Order: sequence, then structure tokens, then C-alpha cells
Amino acid sequence: MRILLSTAVAIASFTATIVLSAAPAHADGCYTWGRTLSQGASGADVTQLQIRVAGWAGYNSILATDGAFGPATAAAVSRFQAAYGLTADGIAGPNTFAKLYSLQDDDCTPIHFAYAELNNCNSTWAGGAVSAATAKANALQLMWKLEALRHALGDVPIYISSAFRSAACNSAVGGASNSRHMYGDAADLTGSPSFCRMAQEARYHGFGEILGPGYPDHSDHAHVASSPSYHFWSASNCGI
Ligand SMILES: [Zn+2]
Repeated sequence: MRILLSTAVAIASFTATIVLSAAPAHADGCYTWGRTLSQGASGADVTQLQIRVAGWAGYNSILATDGAFGPATAAAVSRFQAAYGLTADGIAGPNTFAKLYSLQDDDCTPIHFAYAELNNCNSTWAGGAVSAATAKANALQLMWKLEALRHALGDVPIYISSAFRSAACNSAVGGASNSRHMYGDAADLTGSPSFCRMAQEARYHGFGEILGPGYPDHSDHAHVASSPSYHFWSASNCGI
């Protein structure tokens, strides 16, 4: 009887273990989606998705991170899926989320970029044109667009020579008085692709501001900004 009872307990606990481990399909260190998302969906989980696919908005387009899953979000999801070899149906389900999990670190930055790279001015993100929290949030959205740009360029390294600047840092390096660097959403890029190649490809990845060779003081980098309130592309030596 004692043997039977302990066997029953063992079976019960074994069954419980199976049930527990089968519950969440994935628990990500940054963020875990709990439902499939498609057109018509809305909510904070849509916003989280939009932040990560905004780099796939398409030529001369900027995807709103507004929590409303419309045609533009579906198109961005489709481009993301195609870029990573998934079925491009514009519906974010388990395979799409699994790819996003594989692309993000536990602090929600994409795997090839880090907050520290976006900020060699100060560690607090304070002193810019927006609050420290906004500057850091802008930098996160910028990084996801850079991850898309990097992938589209063939997974080649991109380096950031300057990104977030406080007003003081911006003055010290001679930045424009209205520089997007003070908002946290701009980065100066160097690396193995040519400056023109990066500026040209950036047109497809959600950058409203692109400056490169041919624009004054931009012969040694490509400048991109994620979410400017205006559209400004200029890199005459690159045909932009
Ligand atoms: Zn710049």
C-alpha cells in the first residue's frame, strides 16, 4: 500500500510537471507575446510588434507605433517575414514571434546593437531636447531600424560614431542647433558598407532623415534619424 501510494504521488507529480512545462510556448527575457496578431488587432502587444518591425516599413515610409494593427503594419510584418525566410502572410504568429525573440536581448535591444553604443555622451540620457526616458525609448526604436538596415545590407557590421547627445555634447561636437541627435533617434553610421550604400538602403527602413556624402560635413559617415517630425534626405554624391 505504501508502495502504491508513493507510485501514485510520483505519477501525479510527473503529470503536473508535463502540464507546467507545456503551458507557455516561450518565455522571453524581454517580452513575450500571448496571442497571434493580425489586421484589426490593437493594444500594447501591437505596439511592441510595431517597434520591432518598423525597420521594414518600405521605401520612404515610417510606421506609426500606435498600437493599431492596420495595413501598414501588416505590410511591415510581411517584409520582415520575407527578409528572414518566413511565410510572408502579414500575420504575427508563433514563427514570427520566435524570430523576434531570437533577435532581441533581455533588455529589448536588438542583438547587434546596445544602449551603450547609442550613447557616448552621458550615461543618464538627460540634457537633450526630450526627457531622458523619451530619448532612451527613441534610441530603442532607432536600434530596431538599424537591425533591419544591417540585415538588408547582408548582415555586415555597422558602427555608430555618434548617436544620443545632450545639448552640451551636441555643442561640443559642433552639431546643428536642432540636431536629431538631441532626441536620441539619430545615429552617425560607419562600417564596412560604403556611406552611400548605407544612405541609399536606409530609404527603405523607416528613416525620415538621411544625410550623407554631398551634404555639408557628412563626407565621413551616413547620418540617419528614426522618427523626425519632418522629412529630409540629402546625400547628393549618392544620388539622394
Ligand atoms: Zn548625425
